[in-house]
Amino acid sequence: MAAKLIDGKALAQTIRERMAKEVVELHARTGVRPGLAVVLVGDDPASHLYVKNKQKACDAAGIYVDEHKLPAATSQADLLALIHKKNADPKVHGILVQLPLPKHIDSKVILDAVSPAKDADGFHPYNLGRLLEGNPTFEACTPKGIIAMIESTGSSIEGKRAVVVGRSNIVGKPVSLMLLHRNATVTVCHSRTRDLPAVCREADILVVAIGKAKFVTADMVKEGALVIDVGTNQLPDKTFVGDVDFGPVSLKAGWISPVPGGVGPMTITMLLYNTVEAAKRFADSKK
Ligand code: NDP
Repeated sequence: MAAKLIDGKALAQTIRERMAKEVVELHARTGVRPGLAVVLVGDDPASHLYVKNKQKACDAAGIYVDEHKLPAATSQADLLALIHKKNADPKVHGILVQLPLPKHIDSKVILDAVSPAKDADGFHPYNLGRLLEGNPTFEACTPKGIIAMIESTGSSIEGKRAVVVGRSNIVGKPVSLMLLHRNATVTVCHSRTRDLPAVCREADILVVAIGKAKFVTADMVKEGALVIDVGTNQLPDKTFVGDVDFGPVSLKAGWISPVPGGVGPMTITMLLYNTVEAAKRFADSKK
């Protein structure tokens, strides 16, 4: 039987429409319009495209975008100075530093300099620590989007066997913690996992974030499993596919998210969500 589709694009649209109303209401009530500083260094075409998509989404939601496109030769000191300035800017409630940064800049130094109160990406060690405690403030956008997608199916997470393939700080680790806090029994896999197919076959919920086109095949998936495909891989013909072999796996899974139109739009939506939340906290702090 064919799996039901977890339509990230449609879910993202619903959440964005709700947020646009909240932005109008917040502005009318408090005078605060949510603002996101977007910092992009260099000429990487993919990064420029990501930033353009984020800006479009912000515009549609009524979020003010404070854009900073800097040349690739920008020094770490100058970039740090800009981050400090944005930390102190009352019109800016979220700060997004588009990665990757040029090699001469230490990304960790820059990301750690973003005020935890404006950490719309949820990458700051303070916010990661709060997530570890089970008391999150800003959660990383992709994992937060993944949880919303799972919950949108009406399937419960509690008590389920969840397998996360990939252990990055931006996807695999935080989504594992979020599933754990929702009482799933979680296994985290990586490149040294032995017999990965057998581990994946145990999953009621399978989240794949490794960056290898069509890596997860139907024989690695349990009948009826809920499969979230985070991977974004560009093929030589310029089309994008996920880490999951969508066609055959969708004949076996119960639910599956597509690429494109799955996790990607939800990631952007959660960036907007975090920015609006930050603006609400800022407005509350002024009362
Ligand atoms: P990273 O490269 O940071 O991490 C990849 C992880 O996959 C690592 O933990 C690695 O293991 C593991 N891995 C690699 N090969 C294998 C293998 N053969 N078997 C098991 N595990 C393996 O990637 P990210 O987490 O940043 O991103 C993963 C994918 O998700 C990418 O395609 C990226 O483009 C996409 N992505 C999509 C987003 C969206 O919004 N749609 C947002 C973020 C990412 P080890 O730790 O042992 O090296």
